[in-house]
Amino acid sequence: MPGRVAVVGGGISGLVCAARLGQLGVSDVTVFDTGKHACGGRCSSRTETIAGQEYVFDHSAQYFTVSDPRFAKIVSSLHSQGAVKVWSGPVGHLKAGRFEKDLNLTQAFVGSQGMRSVSECLTRMCRVHRPGWVGHVAFDSMAKKWKVDKYGFFDYLVVAHNGKCADRLMANSGADDIHQLLRVRFSDKLNPRDARMHLNSLWVLMVGFKSSLGLPYEGAHVADTQEPILWLCNNSAKLGQKGPVECWTVTSNAAFGTANKVPQENIPPGKEKEIVKTLLASLSRITGLKALPEVCFTRVQLWGAALPLNVYSSKDDCLFDALRQVGVCGDWLVSPCIQGAAVSGMVMAEKIKAHMSGDSRSTELRPQFEPAGSDAIGAFPVNPRMLFQPKAKAS
Ligand SMILES: Cc1cc2nc3c(=O)[nH]c(=O)nc-3n(C[C@H](O)[C@H](O)[C@H](O)COP(=O)(O)OP(=O)(O)OC[C@H]3O[C@@H](n4cnc5c(N)ncnc54)[C@H](O)[C@@H]3O)c2cc1C
Repeated sequence: MPGRVAVVGGGISGLVCAARLGQLGVSDVTVFDTGKHACGGRCSSRTETIAGQEYVFDHSAQYFTVSDPRFAKIVSSLHSQGAVKVWSGPVGHLKAGRFEKDLNLTQAFVGSQGMRSVSECLTRMCRVHRPGWVGHVAFDSMAKKWKVDKYGFFDYLVVAHNGKCADRLMANSGADDIHQLLRVRFSDKLNPRDARMHLNSLWVLMVGFKSSLGLPYEGAHVADTQEPILWLCNNSAKLGQKGPVECWTVTSNAAFGTANKVPQENIPPGKEKEIVKTLLASLSRITGLKALPEVCFTRVQLWGAALPLNVYSSKDDCLFDALRQVGVCGDWLVSPCIQGAAVSGMVMAEKIKAHMSGDSRSTELRPQFEPAGSDAIGAFPVNPRMLFQPKAKAS
């Protein structure tokens, strides 16, 4: 069985899928990703120059946990290559000005130079075409091949992204069963009568302060639902960044994201100012700091398709139509987090390899979703029986 594979999307799921295919001996795999500066999707970082010095902000995923032995293997490999490190926080919950350490959190990980270290390390294990926007795909049923935009023909197609792009990409591709599962509703609340993937929207504020906030925690999930903030994180402390400026990432909740949604590629300047002002005022209230230190940098980002509110309900962890040789991987097929995306990508690769070796079974392809069960930024699954110990960094 010929094995030319196109992976559309270079987030964690697409990169893990391509890297795993390589490990399984499938060498002709290309990842297409739109990222201008890097792959990574919702696991990326930004470098900003503030007063002549560079600072890194994680502007989407902040940290991750490990509860699945399959993911533990990936993290162990990332750790041995120096791409991830244990983050000891303190991380916890903030309510009515009181911080409580998260006692369920067994172990948290972050990228060693920001979350982009994770995707950069995976990228080194793949062939990536970037920036590469795939706007059209079509299945040639006679040749049993996928025409992938202007990039030629491939034996297998993997859709490793979700949201409107994936919905549009697959709408007229000839894979109707797959397409119906990629249809999406944007909302901050789950509608149980609507059997589609639901995605929320979140605003992120990156803010640099001229001096330290002096807070006794590095990351906090905010439990005050009347506030627009869901999460705040001292990125300077988390990443061990030197320099006088203290960098924080502040993430809004989904209700605020929906209420303030604008075109994410073209945020009106007035809206940007309003978001900064509102989130800084909230930051002051929830931290109890009546006067925040002087702000010397701000930047906002809207994640229009931020987190799945529901996940596909099946044991397969990916979608695969064996007849058309097309699969889908992503966080929404397991759990809205780095671990979920990685596991889905890994399983997707194994499914394709099995098909190449003669296994002609498809996965379930019925619209069946269940609540993702997390109001946090992503999910942080823990397994109390599994305290993951990454191997010491190879010398
Ligand atoms: C604000 C925020 C905070 C989060 N915080 C955490 C956290 O702290 N911990 C945690 O575990 N999880 C967190 N998450 C969730 C986590 O980031 C995601 O679950 C995970 O990164 C999803 O990976 P993915 O590969 O499924 O999708 P994505 O990361 O979305 O990757 C899809 C990729 O496909 C590309 N793409 C899309 N369309 C095309 C196209 N047509 N052609 C080519 N490329 C295309 C995109 O540019 C993107 O790079 C957070 C998410 C957000 C938005």
